[in-house]
Amino acid sequence: MQRDTGGYTVALAASMQHIFDAKAGQTFFATSDIGWVVGHSYIIYGPLIAGMATIMYEGLPTRPDAGVWWSIVEKYQVTHMFSAPTAVRVLKKQDPSWLSKYNVSTLKALWLAGEPLDEPTAQWISQALQVPIIDNYWQTETGWPILTLANGIEQQTTRFGSPGKAMYGYGVKLIDETTGEELTQPNQKGVVAIEGPLPPGCMQTVWRDDDRFVNTYWKSIPGRLIYSTFDWGIRDADGYHFILGRTDDVINVAGHRLGTREIEESIASHPNVAEVAVVGVADNLKGQVAMAFAVPRDATGLDDDAARLKLEGDVMKLVDHQLGAVARPSRVYFVNVLPKTRSGKLLRRALQAVAERRDPGDLTTMEDPAALQQVRDLVG
Ligand code: AMP
Repeated sequence: MQRDTGGYTVALAASMQHIFDAKAGQTFFATSDIGWVVGHSYIIYGPLIAGMATIMYEGLPTRPDAGVWWSIVEKYQVTHMFSAPTAVRVLKKQDPSWLSKYNVSTLKALWLAGEPLDEPTAQWISQALQVPIIDNYWQTETGWPILTLANGIEQQTTRFGSPGKAMYGYGVKLIDETTGEELTQPNQKGVVAIEGPLPPGCMQTVWRDDDRFVNTYWKSIPGRLIYSTFDWGIRDADGYHFILGRTDDVINVAGHRLGTREIEESIASHPNVAEVAVVGVADNLKGQVAMAFAVPRDATGLDDDAARLKLEGDVMKLVDHQLGAVARPSRVYFVNVLPKTRSGKLLRRALQAVAERRDPGDLTTMEDPAALQQVRDLVG
């Protein structure tokens, strides 16, 4: 993709001031990997543009122990920390006492981005750190947040489960995917789209392929020339958005269209579920059924068949109760780890392929290849 680098600097400077409320002399700690857009933007350019000290740390959040990040916060008096929900979920599985072992009172807030931040995870880390948790929603293509709370402009209340409101510069619209019409009433579900022109910092084309840029990003919604994020979302009456998953992560169970994200959200509200992925699996009778792969928070006793079936049943009942029987997963398998990229994105396609006993294809971006083996063994 191609950006204009001057515009990219403008966008980062704006985001440091207005999203992070950053001041020269403070200390920024982004836990990302430098190869990803969050990494180079918020480990290097953003903090340095803002005159801050920046921390570059390579390693897992759990090595040598699950307190390593908080020891860094204490040692370097970190004021701003930026991470991803997936890392918080990893920490949620560890002994919670690691979070109270260090003095993290210099922290002003924790910003999280990259994937949906489910409410239980947000609650958990917010209580543990006692700082505001600020979710922000963006894409590599945009280079800086589309939805967030710009507390550097005006202090706003976090709503768990929502990355907040449209950032200035972005004409965010919810669009009906079939008619192309804008949805203007609260709580209507549509494709999150952005009216042109995109603000500084965003991609301007696909490298040497203007047609692909226009056709892929701007022409996916019938009858409209508008940038599609390919995410589903809703907006409540106060302007807070909720992201409901990728437009291609929809499954069709006996004629009902369901977002896998909604089912995941429901399953994640079970107290013994640390993390979960739901995929649609082909089914002769219903077209597709939901299948869930969950990482238990406490796996003690789950090697006993009866205990595992009891937990599976409890999770199914929870989904039944919250979303209705049609959303109930056909199976809930318990695994140690979910297949993810190194930046923490779930590899749903691979998971779905294995669940349908197909070849998962190219897995070079996968963090832990053993993750799929366990799934393979479980689905048989
Ligand atoms: P990437 O370009 O790899 O960062 O992926 C961008 C995609 O990640 C978005 O289109 C969303 O599907 C997802 N995403 C990023 N941030 C969030 C967030 N805060 N909440 C929900 N989904 C998110």
